[in-house]
Amino acid sequence: MAQYTPMIQQYLAVKAQVPDAFLFFRLGDFYEMFFDDAINASRELEITLTGREGGGDEKIPMCGVPHHAADNYMSRLIEKGYKVAICEQVEDPAEAKGVVRREIVRIVTPGTVMDSKLLGESSNNYIVSLVSQEHGYAFTACDISTGELYTTRLSNSWELVVDELNVYNPSEIITDNGLLTTIRETGLTWGRSTVLTEWTQVDEKLLDEHFAEDAALPGLSSLNRQGVALLLAYLKETQKRALTHVKHIRVYEPDQFMTMDPFTRRNLELVETVRERAKKGSLLWLLDKTVTAMGARMLRRWIEKPLMSVSRIEERLEAVNLLYNQLIIREDVKQALKEVYDLERLVARISYGNANARDMIALKHSLQQVPLLQEVCAASGSETLRKLVENMDACEDVMSWIASAIEDEPPVSIRDGGMIREGYQPYLDQLREASKNGKQWIAELERQEREATGIKSLKIGYNKVFGYFIEVTKANMSALQEGRYERKQTLANAERYVTPELKEKEALILEAQDKMVDLEYELFTELRDRISQHISRLQKLAEVIATADVYQSLATVSAAHHYRKPEIGEGFDLEIEEGRHPVVEAVIQDGSFIANETSLLLDKGRILLITGPNMAGKSTYMRQVAVICLMAQIGCFVPARSARIPVTDRIFTRIGAADDLIGGQSTFMVEMMDIQVMTEKATSKSLVIIDELGRGTSTGEGMAIAQAVIEFLHDRIGCKTLVSTHFHELAHLEESLGHLRNHCMAVKESGRQVTFLRKLIPGAASTSYGIYCAEIAGLPNAIIQRSYELLNGFEERAAGASQIAATTAAVPPAAAPIQQLSLFAEDSTANTAVKKKQPDSKSQLVLDQLKGIDLINM
Ligand code: ADP
Repeated sequence: MAQYTPMIQQYLAVKAQVPDAFLFFRLGDFYEMFFDDAINASRELEITLTGREGGGDEKIPMCGVPHHAADNYMSRLIEKGYKVAICEQVEDPAEAKGVVRREIVRIVTPGTVMDSKLLGESSNNYIVSLVSQEHGYAFTACDISTGELYTTRLSNSWELVVDELNVYNPSEIITDNGLLTTIRETGLTWGRSTVLTEWTQVDEKLLDEHFAEDAALPGLSSLNRQGVALLLAYLKETQKRALTHVKHIRVYEPDQFMTMDPFTRRNLELVETVRERAKKGSLLWLLDKTVTAMGARMLRRWIEKPLMSVSRIEERLEAVNLLYNQLIIREDVKQALKEVYDLERLVARISYGNANARDMIALKHSLQQVPLLQEVCAASGSETLRKLVENMDACEDVMSWIASAIEDEPPVSIRDGGMIREGYQPYLDQLREASKNGKQWIAELERQEREATGIKSLKIGYNKVFGYFIEVTKANMSALQEGRYERKQTLANAERYVTPELKEKEALILEAQDKMVDLEYELFTELRDRISQHISRLQKLAEVIATADVYQSLATVSAAHHYRKPEIGEGFDLEIEEGRHPVVEAVIQDGSFIANETSLLLDKGRILLITGPNMAGKSTYMRQVAVICLMAQIGCFVPARSARIPVTDRIFTRIGAADDLIGGQSTFMVEMMDIQVMTEKATSKSLVIIDELGRGTSTGEGMAIAQAVIEFLHDRIGCKTLVSTHFHELAHLEESLGHLRNHCMAVKESGRQVTFLRKLIPGAASTSYGIYCAEIAGLPNAIIQRSYELLNGFEERAAGASQIAATTAAVPPAAAPIQQLSLFAEDSTANTAVKKKQPDSKSQLVLDQLKGIDLINM
């Protein structure tokens, strides 16, 4: 290192602190990067790579970005999943002895972004910490752009951790190396690319100090203490500031909310669609009529976490009910919310010291709306809304501080003055007066000079380099009195001069201006610091506003689509009269959606076995039931004429093929793993939905597994279950399983024409109309004709075989005729009289290799 220049040595010392981040090293007006950082950044940011002499044998690779445009470059790196450490000059270069001292002032990581360009307005940006112990995990999530911090304890089951990660969809996870490996092995299935950071530093002293005023701290379990402390230590280390907006720990129990695995969340398209992974077309998209960004984020959280407590659900429904029925009140609430900005993020910026005067005005406007909202809610007639605003602190003091200090339309920059109102501070007013008088004096001087010299075109101007000057055209120069004017600048047609008295006045004016700008900055930061002492009050208020917004959103959508209030209870029976799928209905738009009944009852059929052709509407129907249950549990009205909804602890879905190839597993294997989790975790309060059970393997095995799974759910778990299958043969189960009912999707046939009626009716379907579907999909006629021929042949043969089977064995008639060919025929051939040829040693080797293959993970 010794051969490098002192500056490069300093660079290397700082860089050693952040080996995994790009180091933006401040040199004058630029942030420079060196060595590998420079090579990588020039590639990622498409900026020119240059070199710099640094004392070594070769030039050091270097690239840089101007400091005023650095945000943009930083954002691009963060978006690509990198970290950026910002290193600033921390002493005045004029006073420095040797190399100017430089320090890292903040490390920006994907989980600690504050830049609003990078943050989705309607979604949170979480960083999650995980800590494990023998008996479970502490799961902690924080969004530093809003100050929210949640922590919970999960029992010793990795699936629960994955479920929870899926809810928060974090952009960064910090944990120890062992868990990082587990996460990598599990595969990141929760959507975005998540940065994994190894971090093990827990500082409990810091935790106690930071959250000293939070009532939740004393009750925290030791595991959760570690989880929060781990996260806090990381945030302090990277953000290098007080984080006064992250002051409240929200502790929750996982069983306060309905559980859903990642596939269920995706299959039900709660916050994004399966195919495009877009919000449009999801349940969130449909239900989001929120007015504020805080409301939009809260609605997303509600959808991700349906409630389990009947009383809390009823509380929400009560508010939605009122707003549903009282259009005027609903409109008033909306009106009150219109001028409300993103308080949570405004407040976070204030705490960060990033807020400017325009942010203050946004805060003021937001606070001005609060009394109206409070009044409307208090007088609405809804107990829930009344309670919501009962002890609401409108933060009027904060509003009046801003109102008295900040101009209505301040500039963006807080360094150029023009923000503070007249009358706010006497000394500032005096300086302004002096500067104003000075300008008047100059106008007067201009008049006098014109008179004295007789030059009508004489003018007094100002620029940053030369200050104030008297400008005279070349033609008029001779009219000036000798010796009085000192030449300052020569232009093509004019000369510029100063006089001693102009110089003197200029010094006074400029001094006043400098002082004014400094004083304004000081007054502004004083106000910002004062407000940052009141951050928790503002955060509480933000939550109240967001809640009111979500209620109005749910009510607005419910009213627009004629949803009805569900009856929610602890019982078992689920009954939906004229239920619809909310999103499919909304997308079809023409009102042609066919409503269907659902009744899953404790003693009269809690399992529906649904048969019917492809495209008949089976999967839409099954999802609809799940979505209606979920909507009820978030406190929304439901798309049905009436609905009696019991609280569901878990929804399992096994639907569709879109999610199958995650982690390189086969469709069938994924299905079996999901079913395994389901058999382990489902309770009698769960809702299980399986679409096309038993696909992906041979017919015989598929059907056998399907039957066994249904029997298991029927006999052992007793949960509400909807199963669709293309094995019509399973219909016989209705005879042996008392709680199972056959249903099918009605179809109208006329000749070879088939019309899907989308109506669920009792009974089993007799055919799949698969070839019909192939025909409408436009397959060549030759294939269609040949398919019908073959089908007839199969059916004749199957009929013959099942006659034989029925006379010979007491096996279920449908399961018997299908034989699965086995790859490794030892077991089946062992039972037969066929004499097997012994494999030679070469074949044996191949056989052994084949057997040893890990098919699942190939
Ligand atoms: P399946 O699962 O039986 O193959 P889907 O549920 O995927 O069928 O439905 C196929 C299409 O039929 C859907 O894309 C949807 O647009 C339409 N559909 C389904 N159910 C209904 C309904 N109840 N009313 C109107 N259209 C429906």
